[in-house]
Amino acid sequence: MSINEQMVQDIVQDVLAKMQIASDVQGDRGVFKDMNEAIEAAKASQKIVAKMSLDHREKVISNIRKKIMENAEILARMGVQETGMGNVGHKILKHQLVAEKTPGTEDITTQAWSGDRGLTLIEMGPFGVIGAITPCTNPSETVLCNTIGMFAGGNTVVFNPHPAAIKTSIYAVNLLNEASVEVGGPDNIACTVEHPTLETSNIMMKHPAIQLIAATGGPGVVTAVLSSGRRGIGAGAGNPPALVDETADIRKAAEDIVNGCTFDNNLPCIAEKEIVAVDSIADELMHYMVNEQGCYLASKEEQDALTNVVLAGGKLNRKCVGRDAKTLLGMIGVTVPDNIRCITFEGPKEHPLIATELMMPILGVVRAKDFDDAVEQAVWLEHGNRHSAHIHSKNVDRITKYAKAIDTAILVKNGPSYAALGFGGEGFCTFTIASRTGEGLTSASSFTKRRRCVMTDSLCIR
Ligand code: NAD
Repeated sequence: MSINEQMVQDIVQDVLAKMQIASDVQGDRGVFKDMNEAIEAAKASQKIVAKMSLDHREKVISNIRKKIMENAEILARMGVQETGMGNVGHKILKHQLVAEKTPGTEDITTQAWSGDRGLTLIEMGPFGVIGAITPCTNPSETVLCNTIGMFAGGNTVVFNPHPAAIKTSIYAVNLLNEASVEVGGPDNIACTVEHPTLETSNIMMKHPAIQLIAATGGPGVVTAVLSSGRRGIGAGAGNPPALVDETADIRKAAEDIVNGCTFDNNLPCIAEKEIVAVDSIADELMHYMVNEQGCYLASKEEQDALTNVVLAGGKLNRKCVGRDAKTLLGMIGVTVPDNIRCITFEGPKEHPLIATELMMPILGVVRAKDFDDAVEQAVWLEHGNRHSAHIHSKNVDRITKYAKAIDTAILVKNGPSYAALGFGGEGFCTFTIASRTGEGLTSASSFTKRRRCVMTDSLCIR
């Protein structure tokens, strides 16, 4: 699948034309006032899931996929309306990606040894009820993708979603339960509370029924989960640099990087957040970015004004996160045409708009004197998150050197960052990339525990 702006515009027009979001889109399947009630409901549901055949689980997952496709437009629209962040057309594509490329039960595989002393299997079993904390940047995408994987592994899930995206998250939870019930599965395979807070999150983290917690969000939530005493999957923050060297196809690099950076207004944690370019091609790269890829070249004064708005008082201004370039420039009194989709400038790596994970289409360019200097600066900019990094180079030895130095869960070579989600790249989709705890791109198997099943002296027929 490749993203082109016209395609996105066409989808958006089509959606706007045919879509009617009813004001009463929310039902109440899986939605509880109290976190303890939500956990108890998910626990009762998991008892049924544990007895379901894999075939039946897969039928539920197929129906979930169908419902996501049918509701992709509504979910995308709701997410943008509720959070004020992102791009409807791109969010539709993200939901379609979840429906089509999130692994189901096929991800749960068995390992076997057989020999003179019998047969031993390693089977992947469910944890039971998983607690999941989800971000406002990909709200329904994460709820849907997590549930497919967790349910495929035989679990049910209780969400404590970001309060700023609760309506969208509830809509997704409803869909999941409807999908299950429609094909004879249980209700409450996914549960949530009406009003998620830090208190409901704490109740969830301490509840004895919750043995695994998957946290997708910034550093605060990952640290909280990893301090909870429960097993935690920590999908934390990133600040992915895109390195460009002189062997790259510079024109294509400009196109790929700007496409990746502007996707859903830069909300994905994997998206290019800054560029490190070797000196000899830095001007050429910026030429293509500005003249062919809709980048606005910000002056020193405009950079300062943007810094004051975006990082007001040294803190990330949530009103700027996930906004498009035109809106951001409008906030500092600069009017630009609609084809401007990104803001760029050259600066040192310490520039606050470069060193900070902004999650908006502001793409600073750091100049490096040579490849080794570029690697050093990119590693610094990634801040040890070991989350995502990207490179545009035709030199395999250099790519290898960069990959080892930056040591991230994701490294896209010669493509836009979203190729890492299986979008124009091979591989499956996830919206929970466990950089902190090492699972990497999570899927059903990440949400299972390994059990050894041993038969002595029999069942070997070799
Ligand atoms: P956020 O950290 O503000 O919130 C994420 C979730 O954590 C929300 O549900 C929030 O209510 C909860 N939360 C925050 N602090 C908490 C605490 N101390 N205890 C319990 N719960 C807490 O993040 P956001 O703005 O929603 O999302 C953006 C951030 O998430 C970025 O840093 C981005 O890189 C990261 N992210 C990472 C991934 C990944 O897969 N690694 C995916 C999406 C987003």
